[in-house]
Amino acid sequence: MFDSLSDKLDNALHILKGHGQITEVNVAETLKEVRRALVDADVNYKIAKEFTTTVKEKAMGQDVLTALKPGQMMVKLVKDELTELMGGEAAGIDLSGKPSVILMAGLQGSGKTTFSGKLANYLKTKKSKNPLLVACDVYRPAAINQLQIVGEQIGVAVFSDEGNQDPVNISQAAIAFAKQNGHDVVIIDTAGRLAVDEAMMTEIANIHVAIKPNETLFVVDSMTGQDAVNTAKAFNDRLNFDGVILTKLDGDTRGGAAISIKSVVKKPIKFIGTGEKMDAIDVFYPSRMADRILG
Ligand code: GDP
Repeated sequence: MFDSLSDKLDNALHILKGHGQITEVNVAETLKEVRRALVDADVNYKIAKEFTTTVKEKAMGQDVLTALKPGQMMVKLVKDELTELMGGEAAGIDLSGKPSVILMAGLQGSGKTTFSGKLANYLKTKKSKNPLLVACDVYRPAAINQLQIVGEQIGVAVFSDEGNQDPVNISQAAIAFAKQNGHDVVIIDTAGRLAVDEAMMTEIANIHVAIKPNETLFVVDSMTGQDAVNTAKAFNDRLNFDGVILTKLDGDTRGGAAISIKSVVKKPIKFIGTGEKMDAIDVFYPSRMADRILG
């Protein structure tokens, strides 16, 4: 789907590139195509409309009509504006805690457990950290098992307490364990449900209040399109999270989620997941994403 978005934008911008003389009507028509392409890619209509209005204003302000290469100027404007919309600079994560506690939140199947492993692996291999993974899904023994397998794969310790039904208690015990055993980062993988529900929200909100994490990261499947935005909003309303993890960007996915989520929750996208393997993690760079969307 990325291709279709980028192709459509390309086509729309091509209209401008092809014109010897560009008029305000051409610009408006092109931006209409850009807007359509964004909406097709699951960007919320209102956001897409705001986006093209901003680009149009800037285009007029910068005298695109009389510029030597108006098409190129428009491409740059659209790219810059897309980058800005997705957060400008890449955002880091807070590793200043002793230990730094990172709470993972998100729906079941979003990729939380996989990403917890990827992040632990990234911090271990790229940042010389000694992370501890914590299994806090008290409902599914299979989830604990899954995290243990991930931990073994990447050589990272996993804290679990099977049978303990209190995730707040498990998290606190894990942080105490980390302090005693020299772990400088604690990554807490929590239980998710198939849809947002009150019990899940209360549970994660309770953990959040009790352990005061350095980072609360909301994990979302980028393939879920417009739903991703609604889920992000529901989690952000309760947790006021610090950042978003966009998973499954290797799939047949639309770029729209990145743009819409950032615009709606006003939180940075920090990392992306690009596959099932433990090294399929990338820092999110808004400018690279804009390049990818535009092609
Ligand atoms: P959780 O329920 O939120 O913990 O989700 P999981 O970590 O178990 O992931 C659900 C499924 O998505 C698993 O089959 C993962 O292998 C897969 N998955 C997770 N992240 C990615 C990703 O970035 N790309 C792809 N292609 N699959 C992923």
